[in-house]
Amino acid sequence: MKKIAILGSTGSIGTQALDVVRNLPGEFKISVLAANSNVELFSKQVEEFQPDLAVLADEESYKILKIKNFGKTILTGGRQAFIDATTYDDTDIVLTAMSGFAGLEPTIKAIESGKNIALANKETLVVGGEIVTNLAKKFGVKILPVDSEHGAFFQCLQGENYKSIEKLLLTASGGPFRGKKTAELKNATKNEVLAHPTWNMGQKITVDSASLVNKGLEVIEAKWLYGVDYNQIQVVVHPQSIVHSMVEFCDGSIIAQLAAPDMRLPIQYALTYPDRKISPVKKLDFWQIKNLTFEQPDFKTFKGLQFAYDAGNAGGTLPCTFNAANEVAVENFLQGKIKFLQIYDVIENAMLKREVKKNPTLETLLEEDFETRRLSEKFIGSELN
Ligand code: NDP
Ligand code: MG
Repeated sequence: MKKIAILGSTGSIGTQALDVVRNLPGEFKISVLAANSNVELFSKQVEEFQPDLAVLADEESYKILKIKNFGKTILTGGRQAFIDATTYDDTDIVLTAMSGFAGLEPTIKAIESGKNIALANKETLVVGGEIVTNLAKKFGVKILPVDSEHGAFFQCLQGENYKSIEKLLLTASGGPFRGKKTAELKNATKNEVLAHPTWNMGQKITVDSASLVNKGLEVIEAKWLYGVDYNQIQVVVHPQSIVHSMVEFCDGSIIAQLAAPDMRLPIQYALTYPDRKISPVKKLDFWQIKNLTFEQPDFKTFKGLQFAYDAGNAGGTLPCTFNAANEVAVENFLQGKIKFLQIYDVIENAMLKREVKKNPTLETLLEEDFETRRLSEKFIGSELN
């Protein structure tokens, strides 16, 4: 049995990962469950899966949790306990399904303790791609992508030499505002932004999908996973979300991965790799599909995508700046404090004002994240209100 630690078990990816585990009895044992503050759901998960270790990062939530009795499961709480949980000895693979920059340190710690990573938390690679991929090499650990597009690349690249990659064709649904122009998006409401046409995900990534910042984050994620240059990554809008991405090789062949849009598939493949197992994911019916269409992305309206290429090409701390400003902007948007398009203003402001530092260490990244958040909160308070 593979022993899995799930960080972010109460989220969209975390709960779907537990569904994968339920659907494959005898394949997996949950060694660690970790989340932030959702005590009610977390308690149910701990009762059902009886992990060796259960951690809530939020101290107040942990205080509520620890009153309960979960038999042999050891309970811990707080940020440091969350990070340390990744090093728990009896784990083969750590699924990083927590959201945002908070995923960087635990992922690094997991790699340093020799654990293979099933990576959902793309922010980790966006912010610390160089450090993380170098550490993975040094400690001989695999980073198995969970993001559907990167999981698709991974499947297309089985048995291939990465040097023969000509282009990564990264598909994007286009989100709820595909085809819309800036003037039509000025007063976009939270409900409109959160109404994703094909995927049901956590709120933060759903906003990122509407702004195409998510696709931008995925461009940087792909660069680090597959070692290509940014000019080899081409975003292709594909509204049906059936082709999850494609690889073009130097001989002109293109290999694509197709499946129904269901995150349980890429999660399962990352967890069962190199094996394939049956899954409950709906099979494609080509008589029903009829059309698979492809369009160019609109970089002018969805500036987030361009910012990501700019940040990636500049390198150093700029992807960290891009990510931190976006996290602050999305949080403020969800709280109704800024408008949808002002997310781009917050990112642009930070990218213009923060000085880029080359070859950042983890400490540099923590500082950059902190300073960008401060700058962006101040910008929102003084310029956007
Ligand atoms: P959710 O918001 O649904 O879930 C986030 C999870 O992380 C929850 O378990 C939450 O705990 C926990 N969490 C949040 N903040 C912290 C923190 N500071 N410390 C520890 N744990 C924390 O997110 P998603 O599942 O949608 O996304 C998770 C990651 O996977 C993101 O990086 C996202 O980009 C990526 N991803 C998601 C996809 C999807 O389909 N959802 C697709 C591809 C990638 P709690 O609920 O207890 O507060
Ligand atoms: Mg994706």
